[in-house]
Amino acid sequence: MCGIVGYLGENSALPALIDGLRRLEYRGYDSSGIALRLGSDIQSVKAVGKIKALEEKIFGKDVKSPQSPFAKWGNYNKSPQLQYPRGCLGIAHTRWATHGEPSEANAHPHSDCLGKIWIAHNGIIENYKELKEKLEEKGHKFKSETDTEVIAHLIEDFYPHTNTNDNVSVGAGKSGGDLAGSLRKALKLLEGAYGIVLIHEDYPDKIMAAKMGSPLAIGLGDTETIIASDVSAIITRAKQVIYLDDGEVAEISKNDLRIFNIDNVKIEKKIEEIDWDMGEAEKKGFPHFMLKEIFEQPESIMNSIRGRVMEREGKAKLGGFDSVSKKLRDINRIIITACGTAMHAGLVGEYMLEEYAGIPTEVEYASEFRYRRPIIDKNTALLAISQSGETADTLAAIREAKEKNALTLGIVNVVGSSIAREIDAGAYNHIGPEISVASTKAFTSQVAIMALITVYLGRQRRMSLITGERIIKELLLIPEKIKDILGQNNEIKKIAEKYVNAENFFYLGRKYNYPTALEGALKLKEISYIHAEGIPSGEMKHGSIAMIDENFPSVFICPRDSVYEKNISNMEEIKSRGGRVIAVATEGDERIKEMADDIIYIPKTLEMLTPILATAPLQLFAYHVSALKGLDVDKPRNLAKSVTVE
Ligand code: GLU
Repeated sequence: MCGIVGYLGENSALPALIDGLRRLEYRGYDSSGIALRLGSDIQSVKAVGKIKALEEKIFGKDVKSPQSPFAKWGNYNKSPQLQYPRGCLGIAHTRWATHGEPSEANAHPHSDCLGKIWIAHNGIIENYKELKEKLEEKGHKFKSETDTEVIAHLIEDFYPHTNTNDNVSVGAGKSGGDLAGSLRKALKLLEGAYGIVLIHEDYPDKIMAAKMGSPLAIGLGDTETIIASDVSAIITRAKQVIYLDDGEVAEISKNDLRIFNIDNVKIEKKIEEIDWDMGEAEKKGFPHFMLKEIFEQPESIMNSIRGRVMEREGKAKLGGFDSVSKKLRDINRIIITACGTAMHAGLVGEYMLEEYAGIPTEVEYASEFRYRRPIIDKNTALLAISQSGETADTLAAIREAKEKNALTLGIVNVVGSSIAREIDAGAYNHIGPEISVASTKAFTSQVAIMALITVYLGRQRRMSLITGERIIKELLLIPEKIKDILGQNNEIKKIAEKYVNAENFFYLGRKYNYPTALEGALKLKEISYIHAEGIPSGEMKHGSIAMIDENFPSVFICPRDSVYEKNISNMEEIKSRGGRVIAVATEGDERIKEMADDIIYIPKTLEMLTPILATAPLQLFAYHVSALKGLDVDKPRNLAKSVTVE
């Protein structure tokens, strides 16, 4: 995920682009860049870090020095801070790296060999490696490690130039060739997701955009057009907007706007009025980032799986693991280490790995692991899970394991983060930034990736093709099933209203959904400050059940799985002691109605994947309790998003 902005209009593009980037910064902020048309040239400036770093580079104190990129643009005089370059056309990008670490070279916009085509991209081009190889064979020179850069070179390859003296380009037309046609041809070869804005040196008055999977909106102002990943970057300048749909390409010039599909068939689009205010726009109209992120899960889970499954072979394709795949065959023990929510995802992973890959697995809090004397040998792998990739305890655990010669693996969301750099091999979540302190979309993505790792390692061992195929098939259905659950948001809110005044909760589950119980309880605790405990259902009778009365409700996670009957018995035990029960059950389960006071139904799936589905309603429940209490949902007291201290 990242933010892209494009500008074409009668005003200076630079302030519009910078302003747009600032408003999109919440979507990603590891590096940024701008490409601006100045006279007959397109010039670019890029910087690592937040948008502020880019601004400093452009407007910084040294603008008069010849090293300043601003100086290169040659259009400042006495008060450079006040004077923008005249360029009225440009594109900009704030990055959330997926391919290639955050660096100036990898920051967008990216260009072709000749520096004529400039492109900013949001998404992942899954087949970039093979495209890159082919383009390199033809003589294209790449300057970054990104997947994005292939798009620029592909278009170049289809676009006829006269001024190349090598074999870079095919075709023999002259400048002013068919940019839209070349773009369409390039798009046909891309697999994956993209939102793209593009400018070309031969076209002083044109900006192109294309969408597949990643969002793009075109804002229509009086004297300007702004294209952006979302309307937060548009609404200060335009109130009318066209939302591009998948497979659509837009060709925007000063006096014309044409939208067509990849086969050049014109498409009539509806112009919509935006009635959001600024704050709402960043949150896409949701009142809190947490709710927005809960609702992003169908997409974020798909982003974590996309390009990583080989359905027919029943295999998982984890590029990050390839370099150690031989070593992974010899691994006979896995220690998963993490903190908080990530640790719960690890616990689900333990069940998966032991059941399906047959590898003995333990899960340990990173803060504990680092201080004891763990027994590790060369056939032990340590798998660290961390959204931010900066969790201090987890990082220390990795270092400890490395010291003892273990193979270190990771599941991390932030590209280029400390953990991502430290581990031997890993898989990124690809879910974009998670802003809300309470983790939601990171958890479900971590569990989805655990399933992929299980298939990867399982197929290296005794897992059959059929089993691999079945897991992958079910995994691919999860995003749609989550959508179903999110559709029950209003009903879940009503349940939250009923229980908002309870002061204690138990969350109970067995086997795969014991970790779900822990996660549900943690969500409630962290944002609503209500005491909640996650307990294996079978453990209740060994002590905790003494607490039960009519004021102490229990949330049971009891899908129709291999431990369903056992869960039901435990539920009976609670009911017979006057306790109230909220059940998360499988669609069609009528029996549960006899016992539970309130029921949230989830679709059926493979037992190992139920934690992904069962967690979604618990996230919504915690969210609504917190919101009903009027608490600061996104920034709960005493907590920080990334825990970089011990
Ligand atoms: N895949 C591209 C990259 O790694 C774009 C990532 C994004 O959407 O920010 O640069």
